[in-house]
Amino acid sequence: METGKRDPRYDPLFEPLKIGPVTAPNRFYQVPHCSGMGYRRPQMMAAMRGMKAEGGWGVVCTEYCSIHPSSDDMPYPHASLWDDSDIAKLRLMTDAVHEHGALAGVELWYGGRSTVNLYTREPAFGPNSLPNTAKEGMPLQTKAMTIEDIDTLKGWYQAAAERALEANFDIVYVYANHEYLLHDFLSPTINSRQDQYGGSAENRVRLIREIIEETRATVGHRCAVAVRYSIPREIDNDKDELIKMFGMIAELPDLWDITVNDYNWEMGSSRFVKEASNQDAVAKIKSMTSKPVVSVGRFTSPDTMLSQIKSGVQDLIGAARPSIADPFIPQKINHGRLDDIRECIGCNVCYAHDSLGSPLRCTQNPTMGEEWRRGWHADQVPERHADESVLVIGAGPAGLEAACTLGQRGYQVTLAEAQTRLGGRVTAESQLPGFAEWARVRDWRMGQIAKLPNVNVYPDNRLDVEAVLELEHQHVVVATGATWRDDGVGRWRETAFEGSEDPAVFSVERVLKGEFPKTEGSNTHVIIYDDDHYYMSAAIALKLREENIAVTLITPAGRLGEWSYHTQEQYGSMTALLELGVKVVTNQGLISWNGLAATIECVFSEVESTIEADYLMPITAKLPNDDLWLALQSKQDEFLSKGGLSMQLIGDGLTPGLIAAAVYSGHKVARELGLTDAEKNQTGRDTTTVSFTH
Ligand code: ADP
Ligand code: SF4
Repeated sequence: METGKRDPRYDPLFEPLKIGPVTAPNRFYQVPHCSGMGYRRPQMMAAMRGMKAEGGWGVVCTEYCSIHPSSDDMPYPHASLWDDSDIAKLRLMTDAVHEHGALAGVELWYGGRSTVNLYTREPAFGPNSLPNTAKEGMPLQTKAMTIEDIDTLKGWYQAAAERALEANFDIVYVYANHEYLLHDFLSPTINSRQDQYGGSAENRVRLIREIIEETRATVGHRCAVAVRYSIPREIDNDKDELIKMFGMIAELPDLWDITVNDYNWEMGSSRFVKEASNQDAVAKIKSMTSKPVVSVGRFTSPDTMLSQIKSGVQDLIGAARPSIADPFIPQKINHGRLDDIRECIGCNVCYAHDSLGSPLRCTQNPTMGEEWRRGWHADQVPERHADESVLVIGAGPAGLEAACTLGQRGYQVTLAEAQTRLGGRVTAESQLPGFAEWARVRDWRMGQIAKLPNVNVYPDNRLDVEAVLELEHQHVVVATGATWRDDGVGRWRETAFEGSEDPAVFSVERVLKGEFPKTEGSNTHVIIYDDDHYYMSAAIALKLREENIAVTLITPAGRLGEWSYHTQEQYGSMTALLELGVKVVTNQGLISWNGLAATIECVFSEVESTIEADYLMPITAKLPNDDLWLALQSKQDEFLSKGGLSMQLIGDGLTPGLIAAAVYSGHKVARELGLTDAEKNQTGRDTTTVSFTH
């Protein structure tokens, strides 16, 4: 990539900062974040973290790193330092990070009531015996810790800290938030102990104080000690317990990594939480300590980052998601490439995949998680294999990504789009309430394409098979997307519902184009039938409420938007829907529609009932737009006789799904052009020896 000079305005972001015995080379700090890699995929993890260091992050941390088998988060692959066999695996990461001059941090972690210990079957410690809170909802309680157990825990901490030293880390964390064990000790409601570790604030902070002091004694000669700590989002009272306890240990560590006490806010989707949303709370903490402070805020704007440092809100720019969407943000600022920054859209698809126990991925950055398995670099693509031309049909996320990456590789690219506006589904969806940032998927790619003279874009050009053959490109990539179906077929129903042809069945595609179901002279009531279980039904309901249309949402699921639980959107969606008076009916499947009412059925008892409405809008599944593809397939011979070499169907046209999957398929087709089948089919299993304990 071409490089230029940094605007001197941004110099403060590049000033080194002393953190205890180590020095961060700049102010860009990748805070600990889950990756779905951990102990199970150490090569993958090392390559991913190393890429961030290469991209200029001055500090790069692990995910949560378990200190002992009684803190086992199976099926989620956290990192671990249970025994010496773990050291070599984490050394892969520290080596990869150090290679680029960054510091490596490790987040030592003990889960407590949030781990089930499914693999190790060990009892988890807690300040008291309390029910397990892991997602699995196991009927299981923690073991109330005795004073001996507290000593044992401290021993585990220090053994893990020694291994962290051996693994060559520079920053060692004491992790005291996110409702894990140390956080529970701080809580006046959870910690009901009567001894020196419970009761008063001084007693409740004692365990953390001791662990900080002992960690410093173990690693302090070479490593900084950081503490992750959370505070209330709105601090209106200095007497708040967490603030009071912070005051008691404010000078103990070398660095404070501050989060807010509400995960829906800290990790909030951009639909509900915007950039720099924690800054008031963080500024308060900063005023209470002389030690450096780092915090996240989904920072993607260099100017916002700069203002955080200059106004003294914090000393380092903490990032998880922005560093996932663009591992090269620091380098891009450093080299004056601000308009190349690929901004996170706040969709939380990264987080969702970790919470499914799989390696993380990213809507904006298709290379995320593929640094090791496929060898994909986040800021470089291989040069074209030959002077050949590619026609990309459809400029949704898949087509835009394909055209952009093919153009960057140096192919001659034609991108044809039927509509006057590019972006396909992201352009439509970004009009929904709260979704504006999703347009970044389109805008970043259009910005990159605008710099490529070898990519020609033709909006308002719907191609048919004859036009494609006439254009005589050597390669054709079909990215024609998918269309929401109206017949109710989804997970619960396998066939169309009775009455699906009725004119009062209103397609969600019409709403996405800006049309609304309206009844003349009276209030309109729409039933949305959701069997999609992600964000769309809630988003459309909120859009209809803006138009003053009454909405009843019906779903066969036990909760609306089940999959949006993984992206941390379910809570925000439900809150917004209830505030706006949307009625949500769960555990009911759609049977039929008669133009005036829907007949629904209880998924358990099969008892039927009816709900009257003016319109019915099914949001259940999509049909791939593959007509052009099928027509092209039938004309393969003509295509080949005109010099054609390859044809591929990608994105939603192939398998309707996440925007992230469409972007990935566009990137993959572009990366793989010119590769042999053997080169494409890497299985990429992480073969690093897995230790006996795992
Ligand atoms: P994906 O998520 O796979 O990128 P989208 O539905 O977002 O899919 O985008 C598909 C795009 O393809 C839309 O913008 C649509 O207008 C465009 N398109 C569909 N058929 C044609 C065609 N025959 N010629 C050109 N563009 C097309
Ligand atoms: Fe941001 Fe979405 Fe990428 Fe996560 S998946 S980093 S939220 S763009």
